[in-house]
Amino acid sequence: VVSKPATGEIIAMASYPSFNLNSFILNTVENLEYRRSLSLDTKGTPLINRSLQATYPAASIYKTISTAILLYEGLIPEDKHYYCSGSYRLNNQTFGCWSTHNSQDMEDALKNSCDVYFYNAALIIGIDRLSKYSEMFGVGKITEIDLPSERSGNNPSRQWFRSIGFEWYDGHTLNTIIGQGDVKVTPLQLLNIINIVANKGVAYKPRILKSISDPENGTNTIIDKEILSTVKMNDETYIKLTSYLRKVVSEGTAVNAFRYNPYKFAGKTGTGEVGVGQKKQTHSSFAGFGPIDYPLEEQISVIVLIEYDNGEFYRWSAPLANMVLNAWFSKEYDYKELSRKMGYPYKESYATE
Ligand SMILES: [Zn+2]
Repeated sequence: VVSKPATGEIIAMASYPSFNLNSFILNTVENLEYRRSLSLDTKGTPLINRSLQATYPAASIYKTISTAILLYEGLIPEDKHYYCSGSYRLNNQTFGCWSTHNSQDMEDALKNSCDVYFYNAALIIGIDRLSKYSEMFGVGKITEIDLPSERSGNNPSRQWFRSIGFEWYDGHTLNTIIGQGDVKVTPLQLLNIINIVANKGVAYKPRILKSISDPENGTNTIIDKEILSTVKMNDETYIKLTSYLRKVVSEGTAVNAFRYNPYKFAGKTGTGEVGVGQKKQTHSSFAGFGPIDYPLEEQISVIVLIEYDNGEFYRWSAPLANMVLNAWFSKEYDYKELSRKMGYPYKESYATE
């Protein structure tokens, strides 16, 4: 999904597997058969608009919210270091990090997406504060986009856990703070989080509809932007957070994907784990915005999420997001030319899909 953070306007929205919309116009035998095959495809589920009707672990993009809380509430000094040995012990449980990061301060932790730093932060923030701010950032609530059947996802809290018959433990907070466990979001909600940062606390309702023209009387009604919610944190928090998200792209987990980077984009990578044991798989994601040195009205934001993007060495979300951002600002729309220029392996299938 691509949007304008300053207004909530949706520039583009795509979900794959896709289908031929024309088949819904006429009820020919061929069309009816095709539509039946779409609804019977329980594996690809092409009729689900994944942007707003499918939920995923928020994964590490959620650390954007966690970091905002730390900055705004001043819970941990920015230069305080925590040591990441690759895992963290809480009571008798081990919580892993995806790498061994050694000494990490707040900026390092977001830049490198260090889980151990955030496990330490989880116990300081606590689940009550975490769930309160998550709700402000729109987790567990629909974005009120002008399309039907949007899902709200889930924002885990102590009260919610009690309502389904469980007691909350600190281990759950550790899972929550890295966007795993019971934190479930739609890609559109992830984009909303990033838009709130870009907008310094204001979320607009995502809008597909731009205007309504009446050919009979010639009137044209422009659909105005509409505030969905505000997250009242000070500007310094958002400015600092943006500088950290910029570091993700210029030095951190997205640096390889953004090697070709003539514009100043900022963003956060995510790797959502689904399934257990041998069947464990990952969804990759990237949400970003920019260029951060442009006026807000000119900036755009993007979320890319790829299901089961299990590649060990190359994940596609951040490169694709970078291509979308660059295509918009450089006005280079030839996909093949763009991927050549940006140094990505060209895939015919991506170009057509
Ligand atoms: Zn780490």
